Amino acid sequence: MRRVLVLAGTTEATALADRLHGDGFDVVSSFAGVTRERQPRPGRVRVGGFGGADGLERYLRDEAIDLVVDATHPFAAVMPFNAAEATRRASVPLLRLLRPAWTAVRGDQWIDVANLDEAAAALDSYRRVLLTVGRQSATAFARCDDITFVVRSIEPIDDVLPGAMRVLDRGPFDLAAERALLVEHRIDAIVSKNSGGSATEAKLTAARELGIPVVMVARPAQPDVQQVADVDDAFGWVQEHSRP
Ligand code: NAP
Repeated sequence: MRRVLVLAGTTEATALADRLHGDGFDVVSSFAGVTRERQPRPGRVRVGGFGGADGLERYLRDEAIDLVVDATHPFAAVMPFNAAEATRRASVPLLRLLRPAWTAVRGDQWIDVANLDEAAAALDSYRRVLLTVGRQSATAFARCDDITFVVRSIEPIDDVLPGAMRVLDRGPFDLAAERALLVEHRIDAIVSKNSGGSATEAKLTAARELGIPVVMVARPAQPDVQQVADVDDAFGWVQEHSRP
């Protein structure tokens, strides 16, 4: 049985693990352990960092991993490089599963920024901002004193932005609910990472309809490795690399 390590933390990682498990692969889904609450997963699960590229290389050898699919989030800036380095050293084939980024369409008022610090600096003329960047990234906005933040995150962020209004929720989010959220809180700007995917896209449609600007944070760099955009192609790649 082929043993596949899926570097997880996304809906695509779960869907891929599910398909591989159903197809008879020995799947290990690996999580960083950032969120405490975890959904049930198909196959085996391990939690916590490996200890850099060295630790991951050791893990690949010790566990006799045949293939690695890096399905971490588009904003995971470190793990993809560690995966590239460790798999190269251990001679294990690697695939990056990376969903396409969103692109602006007619009617969007996006303010494109390169990173979270630029996003915070771009908020000067706004007063009520919906922050949808996740708990770990909220620290970049701690210096924005005059802004009331409405923060939506999977886990509480009280320690980071004590004055913020909290909306604890996990996607997917539908358009009507996003529209209501923006209106109810009188939001005048949104900050979003360009995560791509359909689960959190409705806020962009709602912002377009309501004429609300979106400060859109660009993705971090990716290593130069083989890449696919969806779960079907990742599944096909694993199958292809598993033929005798
Ligand atoms: P990161 O900056 O690329 O990784 C930081 C460290 O966390 C890595 O060096 C690694 O530790 C550990 N790590 C990351 N992903 C891991 C995984 N799947 N399994 C085991 N260890 C992992 O990543 P991050 O931005 O902190 O994100 C952490 C996790 O949350 C990822 O799995 C990602 O898919 C998920 N996530 C991130 C975002 C986001 O916006 N960044 C959003 C949604 C979900 P060692 O060096 O010790 O191995």
